[in-house]
Amino acid sequence: MGKYIQIHGSSDKFEVNNIFCVGKNYLDHIKEFGQSEAPKKPVIFLKPNSAVTGDNSRIALPVINGRKISENVHYETEMVVAISKDGINLTEDEVSDYIFGYAIGLDLTLRDVQGEAKKSGLPWATAKGFINSAPVGNIVRKEEIENPMNSDIELIINNERKQFSNTNLMIINIYKLISYISTVFGISKGDLIYTGTPKGVGQINPGDELKAVLSNKYELNVKFDG
Ligand code: MG
Repeated sequence: MGKYIQIHGSSDKFEVNNIFCVGKNYLDHIKEFGQSEAPKKPVIFLKPNSAVTGDNSRIALPVINGRKISENVHYETEMVVAISKDGINLTEDEVSDYIFGYAIGLDLTLRDVQGEAKKSGLPWATAKGFINSAPVGNIVRKEEIENPMNSDIELIINNERKQFSNTNLMIINIYKLISYISTVFGISKGDLIYTGTPKGVGQINPGDELKAVLSNKYELNVKFDG
């Protein structure tokens, strides 16, 4: 199913292809989980295309046999990089040519399901990849983002600030991440890369209104219906 995200300041849309996500990319978030070591290599996982949803979305959990699949959904606010063309084996110097733009996104996570998976050594796909688990704001063309390596990211829930950080605190920066992903998986036109969350993750509750903001300017608004 084709997924399209609005391009900021334009009537054009960005067609989404693969969705890559980076885990453990801010030390203060790693410490929230009682760990202290930064990973030596990028921690990468994927979400299906059906995870993407745009600004002003409403999100409801999947229901199986009359029960919601999670009792503990977490928000993770992340800068998202949008890819403009196909590439493999890119060096860090080459990747800027392959970036279309940036957006603010949420890597919604079923923390209880993820905890069970971790305990059993099973994959995270259900915990991380359910429908609408990857909301993303309008894509801002790279020319409009002054310094993607030094951009504020913020999350406000029901008018209360829950996360505030800066992309300069990433352990593995955007260029290194894209170089790595291009070498292992290849990158393709339309890919989105969620670059990891800083500290302050927490649970969302039915009725919550989430506003994520990039560079104090570019917003993503979603409502969680439970
Ligand atoms: Mg994340």
